[in-house]
Amino acid sequence: MMNSRQKSIWVFGDYRNYFQNRVTLQLISRAVDLSRIISAEVCAVILGHEIDEYIMEYTAHGADRIIAVDDPVLKNYNTELYVTLMEALVKERDPDIVLIGATDFGREFAPRMAKRLKTGLSADCVGLDVEADGLLIQTAPSFGGNMLAEIVTSRHRPQMATIRPGTFKEIPHNYERRSLVEKLPLMKNLPRPRIRLVEYERSVEKEHTIENAAVIVCGGRGMGNKKKFKKLNDLAKLLNGDVGATRPVVYAGWADHDALVGQAGKHIKPKILFSFGISGAIQHTAGLGEADFIIAVNKNPQATMMKMADVAIVGDTSDVLHTLIKELRKRIRD
Ligand SMILES: Cc1cc2nc3c(=O)[nH]c(=O)nc-3n(C[C@H](O)[C@H](O)[C@H](O)COP(=O)(O)OP(=O)(O)OC[C@H]3O[C@@H](n4cnc5c(N)ncnc54)[C@H](O)[C@@H]3O)c2cc1C
Repeated sequence: MMNSRQKSIWVFGDYRNYFQNRVTLQLISRAVDLSRIISAEVCAVILGHEIDEYIMEYTAHGADRIIAVDDPVLKNYNTELYVTLMEALVKERDPDIVLIGATDFGREFAPRMAKRLKTGLSADCVGLDVEADGLLIQTAPSFGGNMLAEIVTSRHRPQMATIRPGTFKEIPHNYERRSLVEKLPLMKNLPRPRIRLVEYERSVEKEHTIENAAVIVCGGRGMGNKKKFKKLNDLAKLLNGDVGATRPVVYAGWADHDALVGQAGKHIKPKILFSFGISGAIQHTAGLGEADFIIAVNKNPQATMMKMADVAIVGDTSDVLHTLIKELRKRIRD
């Protein structure tokens, strides 16, 4: 009975480095939005060993169903085993959409899976939407990053995409939520992996990154020079925030590459974003999709960034910055 078939959107559970890497939760959140449009269920797929914690987390963050394969053989990620298992599960269950985080892991894993399933894959997406008939609109940088293209997989299924971490906002957890959990046994006749894990060493990562900062003070070429740009640190410090930068600023050496915001850099989702001397080129604004409240400063009121802003201050960046810092310091002292 084809008509009564339950549509489903799968999110691959990339749970390694869970507390820093929230991409799976961000994808579950977007999948929940999309599922409402096409009446689908959101299913998180988890492969690994001793994974009950993640079953609970993905449920609390919005998954309707969890498919879990828990076995010591899957304790460490292995491309061949993981791809073989996912291929078998997809062929058996026939999901409409499969979403995978564009982490190092997802970038290795997803193309292999798409090849096996003879379907398309839009890599490194920065936006996702869906039409009522279930066609997934996958927005991804193309032509060397000069354009954002909307890509559809019209004929093949499932529709597959990898999505940049930070593109969407996770739904706050709710431990009252329940999901349907299916724990499946490991498939028989798995191939003997040709890759053997010799040693596993976790790289030391910063817990605090610009991607999860609540306040970001971003500066562009309109800051004038490196010395003036560095003044943004004073404002960020007062507000307990981070400093972000546009590409020309990073190229000029006023800020580190880590601070780059946009298509070629970080996707941010602060509650408050200050934007000083930034024109608002699409490659920059592609990284601002989830900023809640934007305060822009620019001498040109027609700049795109000023039009995007909730508060647009027309003036010289250094003058406005100086006044803001002075006022804030005064209020903190009083
Ligand atoms: C493939 C590719 C990828 C890219 N990826 C990124 C990316 O990830 N991130 C990114 O940011 N860019 C990226 N870019 C570059 C992007 O296209 C823009 O060139 C860049 O974002 C512009 O930076 P800006 O706003 O600092 O500079 P400008 O566009 O030069 O804007 C400066 C602004 O400051 C204002 N201004 C000047 N002086 C003052 C003053 N004294 N007081 C107040 N306002 C002043 C001006 O009115 C202007 O609006 C990419 C480009 C390409 C081709």
